[in-house]
Amino acid sequence: MKMSRGFFPTLREDPAEAQIPSHRLMLRAGLIRREAPGVYSLLPLGIRAVQKVAEIVRQEMDRQGGQEIMMPLLSPAEPWFQTGRWQDYGDEMFRLKDRAGKLLCLAPTHEEIITGLVRDAVSSYKQLPVLLYHIGPKFRDEIRPRFGVMRSREFLMKDLYSFDTSPKGLEASYQKMFEAYQRIFSRCGLNFRPVEADPGTIGGSGSHEFVALSEYGESTIVTCDKCGYAADVEKAEYREPVPEPPGAGDGEADRPEAGSPEASTRAEVEKVATPGAHTIAAVAEFLGISARITAKTLFYRAVYPGDRSELVAAIVPGERDLNEWKLHSYLGAVSVEKAAATDVMAETGAPFGSAGPVGLHGARIITDRSLPKVHNLVVGANEKGYHFINVDPERDFDISNLTDLVLVHSGDRCPVCGETLGQAQGIEVGQLFKLWTKYSDALGCVFLDEAGNSRPVIMGCYGIGITRTVAAIIEQHHDADGIIWPHSVAPYDAIVTCVNTRDGAQVDVAERVYVALKEAGIATLLDDRDERAGVKFKDAHHNGFPVRV
Ligand code: ATP
Ligand code: MG
Repeated sequence: MKMSRGFFPTLREDPAEAQIPSHRLMLRAGLIRREAPGVYSLLPLGIRAVQKVAEIVRQEMDRQGGQEIMMPLLSPAEPWFQTGRWQDYGDEMFRLKDRAGKLLCLAPTHEEIITGLVRDAVSSYKQLPVLLYHIGPKFRDEIRPRFGVMRSREFLMKDLYSFDTSPKGLEASYQKMFEAYQRIFSRCGLNFRPVEADPGTIGGSGSHEFVALSEYGESTIVTCDKCGYAADVEKAEYREPVPEPPGAGDGEADRPEAGSPEASTRAEVEKVATPGAHTIAAVAEFLGISARITAKTLFYRAVYPGDRSELVAAIVPGERDLNEWKLHSYLGAVSVEKAAATDVMAETGAPFGSAGPVGLHGARIITDRSLPKVHNLVVGANEKGYHFINVDPERDFDISNLTDLVLVHSGDRCPVCGETLGQAQGIEVGQLFKLWTKYSDALGCVFLDEAGNSRPVIMGCYGIGITRTVAAIIEQHHDADGIIWPHSVAPYDAIVTCVNTRDGAQVDVAERVYVALKEAGIATLLDDRDERAGVKFKDAHHNGFPVRV
């Protein structure tokens, strides 16, 4: 392609809207153009990079026995009602009505459509397993679209769905996709980690995310260098510290709490005044105790199918953060939102900041699993300016709902081997889910087994954000001058820059090099524009093609 005859709109200045390098570089190099918040056009260089990534994905899906199909982006509402996701998807779903008043949505994902497709076409175990995939736009009305195509409201996804007759079959399909993802992201030149993940609104159980490491990534992952354990922080578990005997080890050992001999002298609960102490740190300081024997009480409103809701009090160690996803999945709720202070006061009589589980009414108490080991806990007394001390969870409040509620962070111990965990940021470029029979049950997708019994098909789904992957590649492959494309995904392999288009000899040489490269099968751009040399060099730098002549 000759640039003088092409459409290559670049920006001379850094766009103000771009906060991270990939977004800035994609706008500057003329890969994308913003049409509305979270809505982008892909320009010639952008679509070429996207097609390179899509082609790698296609090859690896086909290698594993996947077959490509194309499903509509306009999806009828009925199957979404059947699975309950017309409601569960909430405000993220774009909904519309046709002229006859029928409800439709712009598909945010395709489980509903594909399950119906396979239900109507498959009747016998002899037709399974099948792996079907689709590469096309998805629509999600994200609360905070940002970072260009990294988190947009319309984006390109590859989604493959597996249909098997047995758990073993699902395991095999999942493994095939796991291997395909490793090949895909390696071929894209990404530094990535597969991590254990939470299935979120897609549902089912058993999930991995593929995360491209980047300081601007929105995913936090924890990793163990010793045994290789890696998990999204939403899902991450940790091994609880072993209480150490006083006087031993690293100086932390002389704390008088958490299962130590002192802690086992179970004193009576006492109400003490803590005027003006509204935070854990302030309470600990006021009472002259370690924050390790405090617990905080956080209130949430959990909503269940059929609009039933309840107020929930989550009790976590004072020095730790609550992992809201763990609470959400423990409750099995449709949504879990922070409760308003006025609601909490009205239903429990407990003021925020002084609330605690002892004598609490009107809320279901969910307690972090580590707390019953502490027998001299300090908690809010449900009275402004007061706390209870010497609280023994087993004795003093309802701990029938006990689970791991804590957000894991670097420095915690690995749940597998006990080594210290590290933490990193990354961009989620793909995710795999075992759906089991969630969708086949809801939509009646069954098959007849060898004995003639009707059984639900066992499903998995596997997504890759194609446009987000291009952004992640740029995030990992750029310098101060611009993008440095890995060969495998570069929009063009080479650019020939004719420095002075008024010099006939130069034009002639440039033309001959350009033609020779093209004839050798190398995708080449010829910069034959009547522009200053500086402009051309700058554009070539920004575009970062692997070979520059
Ligand atoms: P996130 O947690 O980032 O919102 P998700 O878990 O909701 O993503 P999935 O439903 O797993 O996303 O979709 C599969 C893939 O599609 C993701 O791994 C990601 O690469 C991509 N993707 C999801 N949402 C967006 C978006 N708003 N913009 C661009 N790509 C996206
Ligand atoms: Mg995901």
